[in-house]
Amino acid sequence: VHGGAGALALHEVAEMAEQAQTPSGGPRRAGVQRACEAGWAILLQGGSALDAVAAAVVILEDDPVFNAGVGGALTAAGEVELDASLMEGGSLRCGAVAGVKDVRNPILLARAVLERSPHVLFAGAGASAFAREVGLPPVANTSLMTRAALARWKAARAEATKGSGHGTVGAVARDARGHLAAGTSTGGMMLKPAGRVGDSPLIGCGTYADDALAAVSCTGHGERIIQLTLARAVAGAVGAGASAQAAAEEGIRQLGARVQGEGGVIVIGPSGPPALVHNAPAMARAWVTPEGSVAVAL
Ligand code: ASP
Repeated sequence: VHGGAGALALHEVAEMAEQAQTPSGGPRRAGVQRACEAGWAILLQGGSALDAVAAAVVILEDDPVFNAGVGGALTAAGEVELDASLMEGGSLRCGAVAGVKDVRNPILLARAVLERSPHVLFAGAGASAFAREVGLPPVANTSLMTRAALARWKAARAEATKGSGHGTVGAVARDARGHLAAGTSTGGMMLKPAGRVGDSPLIGCGTYADDALAAVSCTGHGERIIQLTLARAVAGAVGAGASAQAAAEEGIRQLGARVQGEGGVIVIGPSGPPALVHNAPAMARAWVTPEGSVAVAL
């Protein structure tokens, strides 16, 4: 799982310093660890990669320290507009939502699109209407806003700096049957204009899963990630024979070299360990080691 790549905010610098003393401390670290453990528990019980990914992303969406669900970054207009996508590698079924303002867990709405709709992507008012159809209750936009997100928005607005919301979330998994899944959820770039949609809900850009290739979730500067259709490109490299690690490194190298983008990817292939690679100052992440324990890094 990842909890977003981006420049280190002051609280993250403080968190890293704090961690030097208490290795288990820090809310972002604790958040990705909890999400990874929840997904892993599902896989250990024989559950599907799709269930594991969805469960991990819901935990990260509900955690206010991440830029997804509650705690999503605010647009220039001062609202939270959420994007998410989910893909299943066995069937290639996928679902995504963009610009959602009244759903607490956009990944669950993306899942409903995947499972219960003949379409792939719903946006704005249509996504909200579909949410009501599948029984996801409306929530007030202000209930998705945290005091910290509002403070960051005010500071960014004062300096007129756009930027990553620092904390898009994502997960990739391979289950006992060898099926892959990937999911991504975000509030998008802070101070984005209303209606701006990044890579996260775009299949092949922010998210991709194909059992024959790999499962990938991206974070970082969405416009740059879209230019490279990064998730599909990295998955394709695994399909062509690269290890998850080599494919992730090459994807991030190209993100920097070809479009001057900053970001990160998490990747898992049909066999072997996952890879978690970024070229940003930090990326909160957790994964299961070949020995079966959960490792965490910021
Ligand atoms: N990729 C997300 C977007 O562009 C933002 C992020 O990952 O921080 O919307």
